[in-house]
Order: sequence, then C-alpha cells, then structure tokens
Amino acid sequence: MINYKLLTPGPLTTSETVKKEMMVDHCTWDNDYKQITQKIRRELLDLAHVSPEDYTAVLMQGSGTFGVESAITSSVGKDGKLLILSNGAYGERMADIAEHAGLKYRIEKFPYYEVPDAAVVAKVLDEDPEITHVSMVHSETTSGILNDIASVAKVVKERNKVYIVDAMSSFAGVEIPVQDLGIDFIISSANKCIQGVPGFTFIICKKSELMKCKGKAVSLSLDLYDQWKGMDGDGKWRFTSPTHVVLAFAKAMEELKEEGGIPARAKRYADNNKLLIEEMGKLGYKTYIDAEHQGPIITTFFYPEDANYTFSEMYEFIKARGYAIYPGKVTEAETFRIGNIGEIYKEDIEKLISIYKEFLASK
Ligand SMILES: *Cc1c(COP(=O)(O)O)cnc(C)c1O
Repeated sequence: MINYKLLTPGPLTTSETVKKEMMVDHCTWDNDYKQITQKIRRELLDLAHVSPEDYTAVLMQGSGTFGVESAITSSVGKDGKLLILSNGAYGERMADIAEHAGLKYRIEKFPYYEVPDAAVVAKVLDEDPEITHVSMVHSETTSGILNDIASVAKVVKERNKVYIVDAMSSFAGVEIPVQDLGIDFIISSANKCIQGVPGFTFIICKKSELMKCKGKAVSLSLDLYDQWKGMDGDGKWRFTSPTHVVLAFAKAMEELKEEGGIPARAKRYADNNKLLIEEMGKLGYKTYIDAEHQGPIITTFFYPEDANYTFSEMYEFIKARGYAIYPGKVTEAETFRIGNIGEIYKEDIEKLISIYKEFLASK
C-alpha cells in the first residue's frame, strides 16, 4: 500500500489512533452511539464559543458542500434573497447551489487575491433591500486567503440580515468567536481542522434562525430543520449515519483537546505555515496571497517563471518521498498549493523543504 502524508486541504493526514477507532461496527439506535453524537454536538458548541441556550450543532451526512447546501437551501426560502460574497471557487459554488435550488441571489465577486470589502457589502445591502441573507467563505481554500468575516459581520448584523459562513477549512484551526460575531449558520466538516475522516459535515446554527427554517427546505435529505428535530431529542440521525466516521471524529475531538484545544492547534498550523513560506521563499517560490491576508491553512505558490519542470514531475518526485501536494486552482496564474493542516509537524515541513532542494538540484 502506498503511504504518504497529505499536504492538502482535506481529507488530510489523520492520526493512527483516529483511524483505529473505525475498526468497530456500531449499531445506530444503540444508546451509547447516540450519546457519542450528543457529546460531539455539545463540544462543537464549545469550540465555536457559543452558548447552548442560543445555538445548536446539527450533523449532516455528506461532504462539506452538503453542509453549505443544507444551510443555504434550508434558510433562504422563496421570499428571501441571498447575497454571496465571493473571492474563490467555494464562493462561486454557493452561487451554483442557489442556482440549482432556484433561490433568488446576487453574487458580488472580488479578485481571488483580495478579501471581500465590508464597505462594498454595506453599499450593496443599502442599495438592495430585498436581500435577507449574506454568505461568504472564511478561509478560501482556492487561494489560501483568510477573509475578514468580522468586518463583514458588523455591516450584516447592523442591517439585521442572516449571516452564513463557510468555515470549512478554518473551523478549529483558527479561533472564531461565532456568537460575538453574530454568525447565524457556520459550516465545517469532519475531515478538516478537527482532523477526522470524511463522511459528514456540521452546521452550528443560531436557534432563533433555525426555527424559521421550518418547512423552507427545497431538499428532503438536506433539510436542516428536520435533521435538527430528528437529532435533537436523543442523538439519533434521521437517515443512516456514517458510524465509523462518527467514532473517528469523537476520537479526533479528544485529540484536539489533548493537544491544547484550538489555541495550540492554531499555533502549530500558523508556525508550520510561516516556516513553509519562509523556506519556500529561500528556494525562489513566491506566494500568490500577500503576507497580510495569507491564512495559516494552505498556501498558493507561483511557479517560478524559469521553471524547467511540470507540476506532475514535481508532484511525482515529492510523492515518491512521502508527501502529496496539491495543484493550483486560481485561474489567472500558474500555481500550486501546499496545505499544512492535519497531523503535520515541523519535521514534515523540514523534510518537504529538503525534498524540494533535492528536486531542484536534480533539474
Ligand atoms: C473543503 C471545502 C469545502 C467542501 O468541499 P467538499 O469537497 O464538499 O468537502 C467547502 N468550502 C471550503 C472553503 C473548503 O475548503
């Protein structure tokens, strides 16, 4: 079996102990299992810095996109209009979701290397009073930029709009004071910074807004309100749950705590990201995002203009030595990406840099 570590934005490298949790076939209506779901839900609220009186966590089968689709298509409704702030592929995907569901929406596009500007958002909201909901991505994994959700929260909340944040690749890797920011729905998934395996997504919802979702969903399986009603009583998922993934996730939550919670994990990610950028810089690789807005999750690097190798040559060379990197996704430039979330430590970054040196020497 090939074995390499993933320097990608998820699925990511998980610990051996998280993987081992999946060696059990759990019964879904069993009380122990339902209690695991309830514990996960409670602890997610702690990670989000929200009170259980005002917020609830809903787990949903599927990949991260299912969670974003669930939140959008269960909350906007026929009478609402969604403003999407986009500076990457995941923002554009929100428009795709709205389009498929036949929702009214408007997309405000920013260049991939710029954060959505709160002043522009304020202007759009004042011009277009039909808008009821605003959505954006926190860590735009397309480029690695970390968007300023706080400044946007301020203008959205001042105007009493519902605020939906895709924090897929940042939740638990960066502190997010969800309640203080007034975020109504925030979405992440099992296989990102909590370091579980893929199979479900979770949405942390302000209860007063979730309540308004009753009967609004345009999809049966992604109905956020119904999923909550099903799960809230005793922890039983509405439809078959990914039992192995849930067990692995519970273990990953424990390991997050053992590491020292989000502050410690955020520091590890940020330190490794900084080291990666510094060392890659010495080898001549420049970042696509400027230092001010570069997030700690994943980094887009330009191909050097004089590169005499292809991405796939570089990829294969690195993979043969134990690491998988990621192709670029920005449209206007030749780039590649290196993620540093998951079970990745300083030694891994150092090892990667030495592989790069070996690769460049061979060219
Ligand atoms: C990973 C990710 C998603 C979800 O992608 P899936 O392939 O559906 O898991 C959504 N938004 C962002 C910003 C992501 O990084």
